[in-house]
Amino acid sequence: MHRILADDLARLPQLLQSARDVAVREVTGLAERPVVRLDRAPDRAALPREGAGAEGALARFTEDWAPGFSGSAGPRYLGFVTGGATPASVAGDWLTGAYDQNVSGSGGSWAAALERETVAWLRELFGLGEEHSGAFVTGATVSNTVGLAVAREWLGERLGVDVSREGAAALGPVEVLSGSPHSSVAKALSVLGIGRDRLRPVPVLDGREAVDVDALETALAALEGRPAVVVANAGTVNTVDFDDLRAIAALKERYGFWLHVDAAFGGFAALSPAYAHLVDGLDAADSVCVDLHKWLNVPYDAAVQFTRRRDLQVRVFHNASPYLGPPTGEPDFLHLTPENSRRLRALPAWFSLVAYGRAGHREIVERSVDLAARLGEGVAALDGLRLLAPVRLNVVCFTLADDPTQTRVGALAEAVAASGEAFLTPTVYGGAPALRAAFSNWRTSRADGERVLAALASALPTLPD
Ligand SMILES: *Cc1c(COP(=O)(O)O)cnc(C)c1O
Repeated sequence: MHRILADDLARLPQLLQSARDVAVREVTGLAERPVVRLDRAPDRAALPREGAGAEGALARFTEDWAPGFSGSAGPRYLGFVTGGATPASVAGDWLTGAYDQNVSGSGGSWAAALERETVAWLRELFGLGEEHSGAFVTGATVSNTVGLAVAREWLGERLGVDVSREGAAALGPVEVLSGSPHSSVAKALSVLGIGRDRLRPVPVLDGREAVDVDALETALAALEGRPAVVVANAGTVNTVDFDDLRAIAALKERYGFWLHVDAAFGGFAALSPAYAHLVDGLDAADSVCVDLHKWLNVPYDAAVQFTRRRDLQVRVFHNASPYLGPPTGEPDFLHLTPENSRRLRALPAWFSLVAYGRAGHREIVERSVDLAARLGEGVAALDGLRLLAPVRLNVVCFTLADDPTQTRVGALAEAVAASGEAFLTPTVYGGAPALRAAFSNWRTSRADGERVLAALASALPTLPD
């Protein structure tokens, strides 16, 4: 063994203690340090010829790089939909690295069984039944991709084409219908060889992002029996609007389509009796996408995908090789997901679910919703800002009351970010440049919400005319 490696092995306990000290400093200071770092990263260094040892690497990281990292795990990073990492999930994530399991299969380890237990808990949390099987993937984009890959295989089944062998082209043009799909759906269609242009927008309800179910029915009827894919949206990023999943599922009695539901963060409405009606009907979906590094507050990167047709999923993803053998019985995860080798991404989620239970995670969801409602009231009451949509769940979508040009709205986002107090992301809603504040972090408090509003108020007078 190389001398430095041997040395690190001998001093492993001290090394892990040092890494722990750095992590503790970071996590305890997170709420007070600047939320983002806007200046340029250092130039690239040369590849080290001789190693510095793990303590040396830690010192160099904390000096050269850590100060430039964002506080995205902290309470006032409200850009995109960004979760933090609960204490238990951080512990679980550390141990994922320490145990370094390859959860491609079940051989020789209980790790795959732990992933199955976690998937079953999540299924219950989101109100899905036993018919849905699932697996961990890296994020909602991949979860959508897996769901749509199974949809593609289902289209093949309907049309008498074996897509996994013949390729997507054998299907001919595919119809994918959706009201307000997330951008990742178009990306998935590109990856899957279906094509971004096959995503057909269906009209939404007046002043809403939810699909007009009558218009969807008209679009389905126009297909004259050709099978299609419907992507329903449970939680749109701008206004957290929800398609009427029950009504869409009811259309299956008359039309042949695969129903994929993108519930990346909206799926968490199921945790609260006050909002669970928003995802009523989720269980009727053929495939479901839920992100976990958002509202479950586990570290990147984690999401779960569910489907009712594991047989088709195996057709798409099975990894046939003489030493692996064909999938039988309960298929190993490498036959279900794009990856073969996979980390035990379930462990941080398992830790958080054991540590806080349904009740703890429900509290995070309900607090986020309360904070969004409060900020929404604050924005509405502030001269100079205007809400663009009612606050339906955990996102506040707003713009400048006067002259909301892209330049001025962008300047507002930049001024808030430069203050170090908060981070919000620009968007366009109903043709208007806008900002979004998305609440999903486990530690955001009412005091944080007030600081965000104060940061907006102090940035307003600094905007260009
Ligand atoms: C965030 C999000 C995605 C993509 O999630 P990643 O984890 O970034 O891949 C997809 N759909 C919706 C509705 C989202 O909010």
